[in-house]
Amino acid sequence: MHDVEKIFEKMSAALPEGPVRIKEAVEAGRKVVGCYCAFTPYEVIRAAGAIPVSLCSTSEKPIAAGEEHLPRNLCPLIKASYGFGLTDTCPYFHFCDLVIGETTCDGKKKMYELLDRLRPTYVMQLPQIVSEEAVESWRHEIKLLARHLEETLGTAITEEALRREIRWRNEERKVMNELYELSRLCPPPLSGRELHLVNEFFKVGFGEEAYLNKVRELTRCLRENYEAGQRRVSDEKRRIIVTGCPTGKSVEKVFHAIEENGGVIVAFENCGGVKPSYELVDEALPPYEALAHKYLGIPCSCMSPNGKRLKLLEDLVAEYEADGVVDLILQACHTYAVESFLVHETARASGIPCITVETDYYQGDVEQLSTRMGAFVEMMGI
Ligand code: SF4
Ligand code: SF4
Repeated sequence: MHDVEKIFEKMSAALPEGPVRIKEAVEAGRKVVGCYCAFTPYEVIRAAGAIPVSLCSTSEKPIAAGEEHLPRNLCPLIKASYGFGLTDTCPYFHFCDLVIGETTCDGKKKMYELLDRLRPTYVMQLPQIVSEEAVESWRHEIKLLARHLEETLGTAITEEALRREIRWRNEERKVMNELYELSRLCPPPLSGRELHLVNEFFKVGFGEEAYLNKVRELTRCLRENYEAGQRRVSDEKRRIIVTGCPTGKSVEKVFHAIEENGGVIVAFENCGGVKPSYELVDEALPPYEALAHKYLGIPCSCMSPNGKRLKLLEDLVAEYEADGVVDLILQACHTYAVESFLVHETARASGIPCITVETDYYQGDVEQLSTRMGAFVEMMGI
């Protein structure tokens, strides 16, 4: 049997090394571009020779600082992300030459106006519907971004570099999808908390092959161990799909509550899970057109209508043989909160129960979450 626990330990130990590696890259002359959203086309940033880093904060620490400029009744992700910039306490933000945002939800796009005072912030105008005209408009926006990167970073983006980065990013998506798909097995070979750890590890890989190889190794070892009879998760656990707002450190309390109370998370539909990776960029199309199709197709709740998310959820429920859906809503996130009604309807049509959990980044509701998740799993008949 392969020692998969050791691989998880190594992944966990690699997380704090991320900021140091970015500092070293900057000292070696690399440019760093901060991103907040799954709509950001990383391929273009990489083709410009820069390192894209995710700045989406999942920590409660900078929220109080963020609230000095932003309303309290705003999603914690936005307040925390802004608070990090304001206090200059996020090492990734600190090293960014440029920040890229998109006009997604109202809170985020208005926050970028203030963020621009702290660090040059380039905002892409995201259409919020999928249509031929919208794809064309988004293609144009991606080209404008490319031009902006060229001017700001003093570089040239060649078609060859763009195609190379599209291939590489697709490869990354394929590797992550292969890992996710392991959880279709009954019982799954890894827990949702372990899946989440791999997602975090992947983020601090910054596109380096060694990091992707570690994920490949993990997937192979888990599969071979499973084939040899290893079962790391009890088959009595109820299989849960988590959907809704982006996942991250401060909402791990929800995953914990599910998995300590008789459930196992088999898939994350959220950003930080399947949502940004399940579709690839079409390598046969001209690069900007291919990127426009791929990124506009991300089923975020800021799109209207957003039936694609419900179809994705329905497919995940069937493919992962889910017993229940947990709909994770960050406080004051109106778009995901409104879609909750449709998420419940979709779960009902698939014949499984659904629960909406509204939370923030603070840890005050840990016990309440545990009680609610326990009751939810019990209802499924453990
Ligand atoms: S949920 Fe929507 S706005 Fe938030 S990171 Fe994902 S794509 Fe962006
Ligand atoms: S969780 Fe909701 S409110 Fe917060 S940034 Fe994402 S879409 Fe906007």
